[in-house]
Amino acid sequence: MGLSRTALLWCSQNKWMKTNVPKYAFVKKAVKKFMPGETVEDAVAAALEFNNKNIGTLFTQLGENISNLDEADSVTQHYLDVLKIISSQNLTAEISIKLTQLGFDFSFDQTFKNISLIAAKAKELNNFVWIDMEQSYYVDDTIKVYKKLKSEFDNIGLCLQSYLMRTKSDLEEMINISPAIRLVKGAYMEPANVAFKKKFDVDENYFELTKYMLTAGLENNARIAIATHDLKMISRIKEYAKSNNISNDRFEFNMLYGIKTDEQKKLVEQGKRLSVLISYGENWYPWYVRRLAERPANIGFVIRNMF
Ligand SMILES: Cc1cc2nc3c(=O)[nH]c(=O)nc-3n(C[C@H](O)[C@H](O)[C@H](O)COP(=O)(O)OP(=O)(O)OC[C@H]3O[C@@H](n4cnc5c(N)ncnc54)[C@H](O)[C@@H]3O)c2cc1C
Repeated sequence: MGLSRTALLWCSQNKWMKTNVPKYAFVKKAVKKFMPGETVEDAVAAALEFNNKNIGTLFTQLGENISNLDEADSVTQHYLDVLKIISSQNLTAEISIKLTQLGFDFSFDQTFKNISLIAAKAKELNNFVWIDMEQSYYVDDTIKVYKKLKSEFDNIGLCLQSYLMRTKSDLEEMINISPAIRLVKGAYMEPANVAFKKKFDVDENYFELTKYMLTAGLENNARIAIATHDLKMISRIKEYAKSNNISNDRFEFNMLYGIKTDEQKKLVEQGKRLSVLISYGENWYPWYVRRLAERPANIGFVIRNMF
């Protein structure tokens, strides 16, 4: 891991910075590249634009590691409201949630209750809920929540990270439950005993896991979301799908709002399925700094906004 990435991931967790950095106007301005605004109305307006271009969307309210279970109730209510908004506005939009926002640091049972309420409402409104994957110490319990929920609901997906050495066996272990998997490389700072440290290894594992999903996954009716902006990887995957006669409707691509927008357009023109994850909310600091860490050159953009 490069020094700048390590430093930025450290900044994303720093308490003083979390409170103070978001107050600067130039930082607020820079963050606009990655999110349309702080309110759900901003996300709805952006989703309408994407939908008009035949691009699906995923809504996620920023904020992680809340400080008590009352806050978890508010987040739960927020997502129940968002599902109603999506339905009433006829948007092509799903939702993506961090379990730490639903109380994971305090109570497994309460978190499960909250996510079940959201899954049930989504089911009623013909929608779909994705569970984000957070730091490695949450993985065991997140998978536990996912499997338990999946035994009750069919409209639930899970994010898995290719930087974790364990992911191949996690995926193999759940392949027979017809999972919906969103594969990402992974955004957090992880120790070397759990995560690949070389980008080459993370990338190769990403490709291996994708091939597994496009073979064993499809045989088991898995839903497959390939969430990356890595253009070389996207080409490799498209090539693999083509040479194995896997049609465009068997998998989808996911990207983040504001990143590789030209490629987003191209994928849709090529008949690929694409959804863009739209983040919104007031608590954007740790999430935003993780975006900077993914591409430290983004710092230049923040600095330019100072002037
Ligand atoms: C829909 C979606 C959901 C996600 N959910 C999770 C999750 O639940 N848990 C989790 O740990 N991670 C999540 N991530 C983040 C993910 O783990 C990666 O950190 C992120 O996608 C960057 O990796 P990459 O695959 O694009 O590849 P990289 O090799 O990191 O990047 C490839 C290229 O994409 C461009 N790029 C990548 N990131 C940026 C950026 N921030 N700004 C500008 N250009 C950039 C650059 O040109 C870079 O060279 C999610 C990503 C997406 C798209």
